[in-house]
Amino acid sequence: MDLRVWVGCLACYNAGRLVGDWMDASDAADWKCPRDPSHEEFQCMDDEVPWVSHEMSATEATAWAEAVADVEDYEAEAFTAFMAHEGWRSPSDVNLDDFRERYCGEWESPEAHAWEYLEDVGISADAPGYFMLRFDEIAWRQDYVYENGHVFRSY
Ligand SMILES: [Zn+2]
Repeated sequence: MDLRVWVGCLACYNAGRLVGDWMDASDAADWKCPRDPSHEEFQCMDDEVPWVSHEMSATEATAWAEAVADVEDYEAEAFTAFMAHEGWRSPSDVNLDDFRERYCGEWESPEAHAWEYLEDVGISADAPGYFMLRFDEIAWRQDYVYENGHVFRSY
């Protein structure tokens, strides 16, 4: 999973000039001001890191990039949802194994997940139609987490 950030020079910024670039977050910590290499303070002034809402230092951006480098592109959306649920605040919180172990997939609702599971295990196969099975979301939530369209085991 690649993270993009816009790193800008603070000395130039304070002098009224916007100097910076979009780049991979993995390169942010090594960025140098192209106008004056003696400018040493720089910061992410914009970013495409969905879970970060504060202004990041370039060092933090690079730490995030390293923490999520092994997240595959097809996992990125589910990973971001998991992250929001777990409340990971710093790159050292990231636990990719935990995410992969607990991720079940994408469903339009907790109920849709539960019905598909029921069909898979076949409990209802011979049950007469007048046993109206009702979905108990509170009970479901003891075993699962629903976050932005994604289902995770909750242990
Ligand atoms: Zn500068």
